[in-house]
Amino acid sequence: MIEGNKLWEQTLEKFISEHNASDNFELLSEVSKVYKFENNFIYLIVPNALTKFRLEKFYSNTLNDIVQKITNSNIKYKFILQEDIKEEENLPLLVKDSINKRPLRAEYTFDNFETGESNRFAFISAMKVAETPETLYNPLYIFGDVGLGKTHLMMAIGHYILDNNPDKNVVYTSAQEFTEDYFLATSTKKGRDNIEKFYEKYRSADVLLVDDIQFLEGKQGTQEEFFKVFEYLHGLNKQIVITSDRSSNELKNMMLRLKSRFNWGLSVDIKHPDKKLRLNILRRKLSFLIEDPKAVPEEVLDIIAEHFTTNIRDLEGAIRRYVTYCVSLNIPFTVDNIYVALERLLPEKEVEVNKEVDNKKKFDKVKKSVAKYFQISVTDLESNSRKQQVTYARQMAIYLIKKLYNPVLKSIGDSFGGRDHATISHSIDKIENLINSNSLVKTDYDLLIKNIEEK
Ligand code: ADP
Ligand code: MG
Repeated sequence: MIEGNKLWEQTLEKFISEHNASDNFELLSEVSKVYKFENNFIYLIVPNALTKFRLEKFYSNTLNDIVQKITNSNIKYKFILQEDIKEEENLPLLVKDSINKRPLRAEYTFDNFETGESNRFAFISAMKVAETPETLYNPLYIFGDVGLGKTHLMMAIGHYILDNNPDKNVVYTSAQEFTEDYFLATSTKKGRDNIEKFYEKYRSADVLLVDDIQFLEGKQGTQEEFFKVFEYLHGLNKQIVITSDRSSNELKNMMLRLKSRFNWGLSVDIKHPDKKLRLNILRRKLSFLIEDPKAVPEEVLDIIAEHFTTNIRDLEGAIRRYVTYCVSLNIPFTVDNIYVALERLLPEKEVEVNKEVDNKKKFDKVKKSVAKYFQISVTDLESNSRKQQVTYARQMAIYLIKKLYNPVLKSIGDSFGGRDHATISHSIDKIENLINSNSLVKTDYDLLIKNIEEK
């Protein structure tokens, strides 16, 4: 086993010395552990099927060549998923650190952070702190709901500082880890030796990043200890960055002195992303996942962005799941496949069903109003009739639905006899243009909106 680890480390070293594109390393750093070395195979554990697929496809040969040269044998690498291993088997050493010496996730950089209305101020503040730590805002307190990029932004500060000054001691910890460290340092038999290590770890920081401070709520002993560390570092003018799922004033069972310290510097929040930001993030993540992001239709991104509105981690999970699904089954990136792949990802199927029922009610309301207004029937609206009046009414109904409820285009298409995305999109553009250029159309639109809203 040790040997497997060693060989993998040597292979990586060699690989890194021969390549310098950082994205290569990123994929390789996904290998979390060497599992075993058996029958000339070194088994490497990877976190998901997509990573496995990409490593096999792009790196297997190179890595095998390297290890075969090193050992002058026929050894090969095999990638396996964590879930394929029996739980009880004890997992050996982490090897991630041999590539990424920083205590920070490699991809959590400013460059990889998309900005929009909801996070711009937090982003700018983090940048400023990273550019001139210790002088501006100390501490920087970043708060917001789960999955909105707090850890990402905090680690980006760390990366930036290290990029410009590799000697700085950037210490990243979570409040949970801090609590565990403190607990180990004080409560075990060997504890007393560890307390020195504990102080050494935290007091030697030039930059201290503390994630999810809300975890300290109600833990008085740890709060006291954190307070001391804070005072110590702050006194030395060392930069401190804290994240939390709520503002410092909203923290419960937290020492007042600590809360007031959190307000000494600058407090910034991250809000929920708007659709534009969600789409930008999806495009960005997609470019990490596949070589040709354009292969995935815009509507797929649109559907995902519509569904996952409050948590960027979930948004990312969705696109990853979709891509993994298509890639591992070797099927095309189609809109239909998103419904299959995503279905499993939605927390409850009922949500979907309810949404459809809900949509149907809304759409019916619009259809009825439009049909009445133009003195035709709802069936006409849904039909294939190309009579000018009917076509116009239909396009208007589609446009109104889009304007009023902004559903995904597919669901509009479905409710108009299975019309495709392009047709729906065309109808919307057409009416939009007419409203701007033709006052009669504008009047129809205004009256119809009024009718529908009064219902
Ligand atoms: P939090 O710490 O607020 O719970 P994270 O920082 O862990 O959230 O972010 C969750 C995921 O969303 C991460 O994978 C992160 O890279 C991604 N993410 C969040 N905000 C952005 C952004 N603005 N641009 C790109 N990725 C983002
Ligand atoms: Mg976090």
